[in-house]
Amino acid sequence: MDIFRLRPKPRRNLWRMFLWCLCILPIFLQGYALARSVDERIYLVAVGNVDKAILKNLKSALPSRLPMTAKVVIEPAAALPAGAYSPSRKQYNAYLILDELSKEVRLFLDMERALFVIDEDIFVPDLNFVFGLADQKKGTAIISLARLKNEFYGMKTNSALFNDRVVKEAVHELGHTWGMDHCPNSRCVMYFSNNLQDTDRKRDNFCLDCRIKLGKRYSGGGLLGEKARK
Ligand SMILES: [Zn+2]
Ligand SMILES: [Zn+2]
Repeated sequence: MDIFRLRPKPRRNLWRMFLWCLCILPIFLQGYALARSVDERIYLVAVGNVDKAILKNLKSALPSRLPMTAKVVIEPAAALPAGAYSPSRKQYNAYLILDELSKEVRLFLDMERALFVIDEDIFVPDLNFVFGLADQKKGTAIISLARLKNEFYGMKTNSALFNDRVVKEAVHELGHTWGMDHCPNSRCVMYFSNNLQDTDRKRDNFCLDCRIKLGKRYSGGGLLGEKARK
């Protein structure tokens, strides 16, 4: 019998953990409070024909998934820009659509974002397809519903799962417009989805690390960048 087992365990590690938590708590609270203190306005814009119920669902689901207070407004639908369809790929060019539509919106970038929603399959030239695309500099993003549907893969319709996927992709692309990069945490909404399994695995909100980063970006005023992200 190992008599050392009968002795009380050293409590040093517990103390160390407690002190560590005390140290990071103010950083977390500060970031979270700053993020919550900014009122975002998010404009949802259907591109071409999109089921109104999907936009309504997004409007009610988005605010609780975001780490800041946000008002979501459904705007009148926009027409699909001419020339966006690629006959050879049988898909729509996401860069072209986002670029054209972004020219038509005027956003106050400190607190406004536009999220376009399209029910067509979209691509960017170097990839087979994208679920969405964001332009951080312009504060705009687009998500495609086409590949979020089970039917696209010959599977049975699942409306609840589809709506969950739409919310995740919307939060992900909005995250890019706020300057967030992809997150290595496969459960975080900012994780890069290569396929639907990735999307289904992740949650519909930001992990703790991303919430802190987002809070710092708000406090530092560094919301603008230069790249478009998928
Ligand atoms: Zn994350
Ligand atoms: Zn992304």
